[in-house]
Amino acid sequence: MEKMKFAVIGYGGMGGWHAERLQKSDVAELAGVYDIRRERNELAESRGIHAYASLDEALNDPAVDAVTVAVPNDDHEEIVVKALEAGKHVICEKPVTLTPESLERMIAAAKKNGKIFTTHQNRRWDKDYLAMKLIHDSGMLGEVFNIESRVHGNRGIPSDWRKEKAHGGGMLYDWGIHLIDQMLMIFGFENLESVYCICDNITNKEVDDGFRLDLNFKNGQRATVEIGTYNFIAMPRFYLRAEKGTAIIQDWREETRVVECTSWNESNIVPVKTAAGITKTMAPRDDMTTKTYTIPQPESDVHDFYRNFVKAARGEEPQFVTHDQMRTDLKAILAAFRSAESGKTVPIR
Ligand code: NAD
Repeated sequence: MEKMKFAVIGYGGMGGWHAERLQKSDVAELAGVYDIRRERNELAESRGIHAYASLDEALNDPAVDAVTVAVPNDDHEEIVVKALEAGKHVICEKPVTLTPESLERMIAAAKKNGKIFTTHQNRRWDKDYLAMKLIHDSGMLGEVFNIESRVHGNRGIPSDWRKEKAHGGGMLYDWGIHLIDQMLMIFGFENLESVYCICDNITNKEVDDGFRLDLNFKNGQRATVEIGTYNFIAMPRFYLRAEKGTAIIQDWREETRVVECTSWNESNIVPVKTAAGITKTMAPRDDMTTKTYTIPQPESDVHDFYRNFVKAARGEEPQFVTHDQMRTDLKAILAAFRSAESGKTVPIR
């Protein structure tokens, strides 16, 4: 099967990542890149990559079947719509865009031109998230009550467009979209009922530089997603509570540790004594009623995103990141902003 040829628009951090992946791909190849800044195009050329002289030149190249858009968030719509109108399939970086109206215009352009349009939710291939999804979907610990998902750093927001509201900056749009999408993949896009969010403005007053967001699902299931950019001690990456036990992933490079409750009733509870008091309620269980084990990281290959895209463009399978999922991801983010502003829980429907 002939490889699908891609142009990458925006040759910055993520555009560079896409270009590199496309050069090594088994299903696609890189026709060239275009960046609005000359020095980025020159850098591409110095790496042996063809750089187009303009966006139009890239979009009018008949050899190009598809376009990956990796420019700052506020420029996604214009380039995506132009590429679809030029008859190209399109992958747009996350967050797909900033408003529902903008997303509907993009989807309409895809439908009108009969092209595949999706967004790059690459963190669906994160092994830590996949371990949480495995526990949920397999039922190995019974019903999952809630999952807490955190990514903590301590360098504030990078000193680029991410600091500015006009470009769709801030951590909800930047990282929030990944963590929200992961939780919706686990608990079900259709089950999201309401959100409650508190934003941080520690190093940046213009946009959120961190947040804590509760996603409330049907049946009382709850996910908490949290991004911090001023955390000099990071909390665990994932913490899951379920009917039969608890699972934790300390760091995203690590395996999952599970403590499973094998028998609810205990015969000998040894109270914990501290200088100020005594507690039986909070005394740890011994291994007579629990077992502890690790779950190895699931296998995953992020290039399956491109493999799916190429097959979807050929009508061989449905696209993995659907338009409805993109709508709900964005809805959740906008509801989170409204909740942070109002201090209230915001319903989704
Ligand atoms: P960046 O600033 O490193 O790169 C953006 C590039 O786009 C710059 O080189 C800039 O010159 C170029 N550019 C700006 N406007 C342009 C235009 N109109 N036409 C052509 N080029 C233009 O930013 P980045 O970190 O690469 O982020 C780009 C996009 O990728 C954002 O939407 C971001 O959210 C997303 N991103 C996704 C992930 C992920 O894991 N999926 C990771 C990082 C960034």
